[in-house]
Amino acid sequence: MNLSDPLEGSFRLTPTHVHALKKLGLATVGDLLYHFPVRYGDVASIKTVAEASRGDSIALVGQISHLQSKKAFRKKIPMAEGRLLDETGSIQIVWFHQPYLAKMIPDSSYVRVEGKVQERKGKLYLSNPKIERLSSLPAAASPLFGGNIGAGTLYPIYPETRGVTSNWFYHAVGKIFKSGLLETLDDPIPPAILEKYHLPSLATALIWIHSPKKETDARAARKRFAFEEVFFIQLEKQRARREWQNHSSFVVDPSLENVLQFATRFPFPLTRAQRRAVENIFLDFKKGRPMSRLLEGDVGSGKTAVAAMAAHAIITTHPEGKDFGNLQVAYMAPTEILAQQHFESFIDFFAESDIQIGLITGSGCKKFPSKVNPKGATSISRVQFLKWVANGEIPILIGTHALIQKSVKFKHLGFVIIDEQHRFGTAQRQKFREKEGRIPHLLSMTATPIPRTLALTIYGDLDLTLLDELPPGRKVPITKIVLPQERVMTYEKIRAELHLGRQVYIICPRIDEPDPAKELALQAKSVKEEAKRLREGIFPEFEVGVLHSKVRPAEKESVMNNFKDGKTKILVSTSVVEVGVNVPNATMIIIEGAERFGLAQLHQLRGRVMRSTHQPYCFIFSESRSGKSLDRLKALKQAKNGFELAEFDLAQRGAGELYGRKQWGLSDLGMEAIRNIKMVEAARHEAAALIAKDPDLKEYPLLSKRVEYSRQKIHFE
Ligand code: ADP
Ligand code: MG
Repeated sequence: MNLSDPLEGSFRLTPTHVHALKKLGLATVGDLLYHFPVRYGDVASIKTVAEASRGDSIALVGQISHLQSKKAFRKKIPMAEGRLLDETGSIQIVWFHQPYLAKMIPDSSYVRVEGKVQERKGKLYLSNPKIERLSSLPAAASPLFGGNIGAGTLYPIYPETRGVTSNWFYHAVGKIFKSGLLETLDDPIPPAILEKYHLPSLATALIWIHSPKKETDARAARKRFAFEEVFFIQLEKQRARREWQNHSSFVVDPSLENVLQFATRFPFPLTRAQRRAVENIFLDFKKGRPMSRLLEGDVGSGKTAVAAMAAHAIITTHPEGKDFGNLQVAYMAPTEILAQQHFESFIDFFAESDIQIGLITGSGCKKFPSKVNPKGATSISRVQFLKWVANGEIPILIGTHALIQKSVKFKHLGFVIIDEQHRFGTAQRQKFREKEGRIPHLLSMTATPIPRTLALTIYGDLDLTLLDELPPGRKVPITKIVLPQERVMTYEKIRAELHLGRQVYIICPRIDEPDPAKELALQAKSVKEEAKRLREGIFPEFEVGVLHSKVRPAEKESVMNNFKDGKTKILVSTSVVEVGVNVPNATMIIIEGAERFGLAQLHQLRGRVMRSTHQPYCFIFSESRSGKSLDRLKALKQAKNGFELAEFDLAQRGAGELYGRKQWGLSDLGMEAIRNIKMVEAARHEAAALIAKDPDLKEYPLLSKRVEYSRQKIHFE
C-alpha cells in the first residue's frame, strides 16, 4: 500500500462507504491515516446493564431493539425510544426531541451508548444518550461478550458520520498498519526538531493516535500532529512573506506634515494610537518592498481614518519617473453596506481633493463626483467604470469582492486595504498580489478579537500594528442581561431614550425561515416577525426599518440611509450590521437569542453603539437558562475588551467555537494546538529559523513538498 493509493481498490467498500468517505473528503490511504479519532473509549469504562445504577454516567455496548418514535407529555414532545440489550439484561432508552433517531438505526444493530442513568417509577433508563452504531462489537469491547483482552485497552472513536462507523475506521487503519506502509514513511519534520520538543516520529505517532495502548501515548501523538499542522502553516507563511519581500513595490515617501494637514478635515483630533499607526505605515511605504501589515484595533478605535490617511499618501504620489498621474488605492469591504459606508466617508474626506472615487459592488458601479452634480455621486455603466479604473482616472476604488474580479484592471495599483480581514480568507489577499507586476502595499484591518496564538498562526505573514486606544470620551456601554420578566421595563427604558432622540438596533438570530431542527416553541426570534410585533404592539409611535441579507441591494441602501438620517429610529436586523456599520446616534442595541452568537460576535455587535459620547446600552435577551450559557454572557459584562473575550471563549468553549474558524483552514487538532501558546511560538520560531537558513527548503524536500501542497490549496480554494 502507498499513501497515494485510492481507498477504492485498497478496501472492500459498499456504496454507502464510498459515499460517506467522499463526504468526509477522504480519498486516499494517506487521507485515512490523517483522519484522527476525536477521543478514545476505555474498555474499562464500558459497563454492563446489570452494573448500571441511578446517577451514573456510563457507556454501554449491546444490541438495540424496539425502536420507535412517539409523542410524550400530553403529546407535545416528539421522542424516540428503544431498549438496549447486553448479556446481563436490558435497559430503556429515550431521546426527547429526536424522533428521527428511531428511523436512522435498524432494529438489532450493535450500538454504543453513553449517557446518564435516570430512574422513573422504580425503573432505570438512559435519557438522550449519545449513540453510535457499530458494524459489529468492537474488538476491544469483546471481553464483555466473552473475549479476553485485558482491561485498560483504549479504542478509538472517530468523528460521527453516517455510513462509516468508528469500527470500520479501526479495522481499515489496522489493515494499513499490517501492510508495512508505516516502515516506508519518511518523516517530514527534521529529527532535530522532534528531539528538541520530545515529539514522536511520524510512524509511531500514527500508531499512537489510532490505537494507543495508554492515554499518554495518545496525547503525545496528538501533540505531534498539532505541532506539525502549525509548523507547516508557519513555514508556508514565512516563505510567502519572504517571497513578496523579494518583490519590488512602489516607493511612497509621503510627508507626514501633508497628511496631518489632510487629517484636519476629520471632525476630530487623531488619537495617539492612530498617529502611531500612520507613522508605522509610512515607514513601510518608503522601503520599496511591499508592506504586509495588519492593523488590529477594537471596534470603534477609528481604523477608517487610518486607512484614509494612508490612502491620501498614495494618491498624492506620482508613479515612479513621472511628474503627473497618481498611484491607485483599492479598499475592499466584506459587505455592500460597509462598502457604501466607506464610499460616503471617503467622499467627505476627499471632497476638497479634486479626485475621483469609485464604488464597485455586485449591484453596480458609482463614481464621485458626478458630472451633473459635483457634490454627489452617480451610477455609471460597468464598462465605462472599468475603463476609468484601467487608465488610472479613478485613483480610489472602494468595493466588495467585486474588486478582485479578473475584469478589474488598474493602471498603477499601489495600495490595497482590506477591511474586516477576518471575513476574508488568505486567498483574497493573494489575489491582489497576483494582479499587477509590482506588488501593492497591503494593509489588512480587523477588529475581531482573536487570541494571540491564533493571530500568530493565521496572520503569521503580516506585521502587526495595534490600535490600542479608543477615541476620548467614549462611554463604556452598560451591558444588561435581561430576564423575560424585565422585557417590558426594558422597552420603556428604550422608549424614553428614543424620545430623547437616540436610536436602537434590534438584532434577531434569523430572517424568517423556521429552523427545521427546532420545535416551533423553541424557534429564535425572526427579523420579520419581530419587526411586525414591535411596529404594531410596542413602538407604534416610531418608524421601524428592517435589514437582512435577503433585502435587495437598492432597498438596503435606503434602509441604511433612513436609519443614518434618523428617519427610522428602530432598525430590526440580523447580524449583518455586525461588521463596521457606523451610526453614532444609535446608542442602544438589543440582542435577541444571544446564546446563538459567539462572544466575539456579540462584542462586535455591541461595538455598533460605542460610537458617540452618549451613554450606550446593550440589552442581552437570552432564551437559555443554562448556567453555562449565562456565565458566558456574563463574561461580556466583565471583559475589558475584545481580546479578553476571545481568550475567555477559547478557554471556556474551546477552539471549535471561535468565531469564523471555518475560514482559517485549521483542523480540529490545529485549533486544539492554538490553546497552547508555547507550542505555537515554538512552531513559529522553528519555521522562521529554517526559512532564514534555507529559503527554498532545498535541504528539506519533504517539507518543501508539503508547503507547496498547502499553497496550492490556498490558491484554488
Ligand atoms: P473601526 O475601527 O471600528 O472601523 P471607525 O473607523 O468606524 O471604527 O470609527 C468609529 C467612529 O469613531 C466613527 O464615528 C469615527 O468618525 C470616530 N472616530 C474615529 N477616530 C476618532 C478620533 N480620533 N476621535 C473621535 N472620534 C473618532
Ligand atoms: Mg471599521
